Amino acid sequence: MLALKNIQILYDRAIEAVRDVSLEVPTGKIVALLGSNGAGKSTILKAISGVLYQEDGEIMSGSIHLEGEPISGRSPRAIVEKGILQVPEGRALFATLTVEENLLMGGFTRSRAEAAEGLERVYQMFPRVKERRTQISGYLSGGEQQMVAIGRALMGRPRLLMLDEPSLGLAPQIVDTIFEAVMSLNRDNGMTVLLVEQNAQLALQTASYGYIIENGRIVLDGAAEKLRANDDVQEFYLGFS
Ligand code: ATP
Repeated sequence: MLALKNIQILYDRAIEAVRDVSLEVPTGKIVALLGSNGAGKSTILKAISGVLYQEDGEIMSGSIHLEGEPISGRSPRAIVEKGILQVPEGRALFATLTVEENLLMGGFTRSRAEAAEGLERVYQMFPRVKERRTQISGYLSGGEQQMVAIGRALMGRPRLLMLDEPSLGLAPQIVDTIFEAVMSLNRDNGMTVLLVEQNAQLALQTASYGYIIENGRIVLDGAAEKLRANDDVQEFYLGFS
């Protein structure tokens, strides 16, 4: 579904954040992009969602194709309309708006009826979000905010959902709820997912394929079970020694 080829990204015309990255996300799969802080994961997501070219000095080369069609250089809105929706790191909710208002923001490209239907789907998936729907988003727990952020992306009816560090800073129980929801979206709705995570354990249990990025380069990729069995992955990412 999504294919990146030889992507190179510079910040400030000089800092090489991403070097010669090629990766594929096949239709109906969950693919994980793993790596430590500053490895270049968020930069890759920004390139896909079209928010990268907004600032001076950001330069990208290489190609990004969605189902064979080139999409690099398109506006963020055009990318959303093509069905690629991102849940940003840190959730980025409108903190002074209610939960439902935030969700409706995610449905802005949709008709009224579709938005109403979307709300129902989100509330069914996350009953906790339904309970909180009239509350101001800024007062929610981190886990609840992550659910709202995912819900907001779902309102746009993604074909490809990109999640940037969904587990960051959350209690284990709520992380389970969130990852179960992601797996059910994939299993039951056939949603394709690109999952960016620092938590390799979690990511490799969820995804079927993984890429490991270090200093802007893909250093290893393979089926999730193969990566889990790899000595280097166990030592550096899964904490076994
Ligand atoms: P994190 O988990 O901390 O978000 P990451 O793997 O997503 O890490 P990126 O945020 O993509 O990493 O950053 C990759 C590199 O690019 C880092 O060296 C970072 O310092 C640099 N970088 C990121 N954003 C900018 C920017 N706006 N201007 C200059 N350098 C940047």
